[in-house]
Amino acid sequence: MSQSTTLPLRLWGRLPLWQQILVGLALGVATGVLFKNDAQVLAPIGSLFLNAIKMLIVPLVFVSLVAGITSMADTRKLGRISVKTIAIYLITTAFAVSIGLLFGGLFGPGEGMHMVASGADEAKQAPSLVSILVGLVPSNPVTAFAEGNILQIIVFAIGLGVSMNLVGEKAAPVVKLFDGLAETFYKLTDLVMRLAPYGVFALIAGVVGSHGAEVLLPLAGVIGVIYLASIAHVLLVYGGLLSLLARLNPLRFFQGIAPALAVAFSTSSSSGTLPVSIECARKNLGVSEGVAGFVLPVGATINMDGTAIYQGVLALFIAQAFGVDLNASQYLMIILTATLASIGTAGVPGAGLIMLGLVLTSVGLPLEGVALIAGIDRILDMARTTVNVAGDLMTSALVGRSEKELDLEVYNRSTKE
Ligand code: ASP
Repeated sequence: MSQSTTLPLRLWGRLPLWQQILVGLALGVATGVLFKNDAQVLAPIGSLFLNAIKMLIVPLVFVSLVAGITSMADTRKLGRISVKTIAIYLITTAFAVSIGLLFGGLFGPGEGMHMVASGADEAKQAPSLVSILVGLVPSNPVTAFAEGNILQIIVFAIGLGVSMNLVGEKAAPVVKLFDGLAETFYKLTDLVMRLAPYGVFALIAGVVGSHGAEVLLPLAGVIGVIYLASIAHVLLVYGGLLSLLARLNPLRFFQGIAPALAVAFSTSSSSGTLPVSIECARKNLGVSEGVAGFVLPVGATINMDGTAIYQGVLALFIAQAFGVDLNASQYLMIILTATLASIGTAGVPGAGLIMLGLVLTSVGLPLEGVALIAGIDRILDMARTTVNVAGDLMTSALVGRSEKELDLEVYNRSTKE
């Protein structure tokens, strides 16, 4: 090849990974707009990348959590980290629904739509708290692994890690084994991430290509409000907490987590993004293995601020569209159910739409609202998943910083890869 043909390749190779991913994202959007449904020919590349990261989720979460716990032999510290993590998750989620309601009220995207409800829909039932708690303990860990039940795997990994700490000397070879396995899976994640720019490109081209202007335009208002509210939440709440509470530079944070955000945006799955989030937290934010290995898998399953924002905006949007006036207790009910619904939402594409039904029925809003949104849900899912993942990573930085489990040198180093 001549000099001039290899130059672009060499320049591309010199870009840090996060910039390559953003270029992939931008080119993917352009390809989707230009080639519409024909962009689907790229689907296999997207699936290949998705499969590769999904392949990592179960083993990576398991071994990194066990290795993380054995690196923090102090059980009280583990208890403290759990309490802090859950508290930050709950508080930020309540903020998120409120911001959603605020933006939905301020911009009124459903005003003047004059929809009429038929009242024929069936309400959905939320699972009870007791059944959720009982279900946390796997009766058979192998089934939990096979089904990819992250919460059960977390419970099993914590039990195993804590027991290894209690056994002490005799468990030392097993501790070493898990350390080695964790390193191996981090390396594998690293390798898989080299596919990310191409995978993200293909996935985004497919999504954008299949959502033409005719699908998006009628609901452009509500899409805009959800994106705006999401950006406001990330910048104000996350940026604010990082700089005020943790004294960390938010710009570095966003630069460090860019790969995870791009993967979340293009896959619409927090669970699918988990290996990338763990890698970003450790390598770019300097969060310790123990904190990242615990905070992020828990977050990917229960912390969904983006989903909560979406529920807040949509509850108001649907009330406006169907001409229903909400009173103060209904607002409170929305905050409560949307927070709980977001906790119960699985970190997979489209899960938030199903939970929306729950929030709507809790305040007597028509379920037809779900059907109204279904056609554009993927576009909204991209925004909410990105916020969900950003929230998990922000919490890992906050908890890491307060527990002295965040290496400031790594955090403040500019991301070269
Ligand atoms: N897709 C979202 C996620 O994985 C969940 C949702 O649908 O709200 O975080």
